[in-house]
Amino acid sequence: TAFDIVKFSEEITEDMQLIAKQNQQIIYQHTGTSATVNLDQPLLRNAIINLISNAIKYSGENTFIEFNTEITPSMVTICIQDNGIGIPIEDQKHLFEAFFRAHNTGNIAGTGLGLNIVNRYVQLMDGEVKFISNVNQGTSFTLYFKKSHE
Ligand code: ATP
Ligand code: MG
Repeated sequence: TAFDIVKFSEEITEDMQLIAKQNQQIIYQHTGTSATVNLDQPLLRNAIINLISNAIKYSGENTFIEFNTEITPSMVTICIQDNGIGIPIEDQKHLFEAFFRAHNTGNIAGTGLGLNIVNRYVQLMDGEVKFISNVNQGTSFTLYFKKSHE
């Protein structure tokens, strides 16, 4: 059923800001004419929360996390970008495998399940996940949904 992605995203941002690190600022912005989407709200919420949790966990204090949504006549695009530790290139192809963790996580705890779940939920919604990452620079994850598939 249809819902307002701006209101939905603002609520998530507010909740996630509570668990962010010292001075980590989550910045939410929406672009596009409409704000109405037709996606599975619980699945989408879980996917976004997983991605923002990772952005918080894998970046330092005093950093920005950008959370953007965009609606065009043909697409819904959702992007979460951080300025964190990044993902080594040789680890990137394994990222969606269950229990996989990259080699630069040090003593940061995790089970390696979050992204596997994100990927499966996005597939259930007929969407696509893409990411771009550079070690010591940051990472962005983008979710794409065709309007016709909503
Ligand atoms: P959890 O199951 O609690 O989410 P996790 O965070 O280790 O544990 P995933 O969310 O599946 O597992 O992420 C898999 C791995 O991908 C992480 O262990 C980390 O190495 C890497 N990773 C994921 N997101 C980021 C990010 N934003 N920046 C840097 N590395 C990341
Ligand atoms: Mg995780």
